[in-house]
Amino acid sequence: MGLGPVWRLRRRQEAAAEAPEEKASPGWIELKAAVPACTACKLHQGRTQTVFGVGDEQADWLLVGEAPGAEEDRLGEPFVGQAGRLLDSMLAAIGLSRRDNVYICNVLKCRPPGNRNPEPDEVAKCTPFLLRQIELIGPKLIVAMGRFAAQTLLDTDASIASLRGRVHRYAGLPLVVTYHPAYLLRNLPDKAKAWEDLVFARRTMQAL
Ligand code: URA
Repeated sequence: MGLGPVWRLRRRQEAAAEAPEEKASPGWIELKAAVPACTACKLHQGRTQTVFGVGDEQADWLLVGEAPGAEEDRLGEPFVGQAGRLLDSMLAAIGLSRRDNVYICNVLKCRPPGNRNPEPDEVAKCTPFLLRQIELIGPKLIVAMGRFAAQTLLDTDASIASLRGRVHRYAGLPLVVTYHPAYLLRNLPDKAKAWEDLVFARRTMQAL
């Protein structure tokens, strides 16, 4: 004879209690709460605040940088310092603005002290936040700005120079690589190359 309905229900409840907990993927609200609460790496000790990201949460364009600098740490928004002003003017040159159909964030959500490079363990601990942001936004195209964004998203050690000028894929999404705006401030001749990259990105977007 089979089990009666009360026993079947009890069995199911017991099985559910024994099953490994399945964590639902965080939505925007949970993610925006999780980032400022994060203490997974040592960078939380020196931050003024975390820098989550800015822009249209359903943008077609996603731009990914490296990590907040001093101004970003102070204001809580990515790319608001000198590099950010350059980025804004480059975006404007291809008809884009940080608040309209564009989302901007970084690999790291906390400022590394003295603006040093991110360390591998910091990138490893912080990357899940970025990957979930990408899932939630669902952009049509990703622009990886600089070595850390490109290498993290493409899981490669290749140089920016060798990655430029081609359409890569991250989780099936087209991804274009360009120089980091802060690098361009120090290497003005390469601005022309970054301009080529943005034009290439725009052409890639138009062809989608
Ligand atoms: N550099 C970055 O990579 N991100 C910022 O937000 C600012 C400077």
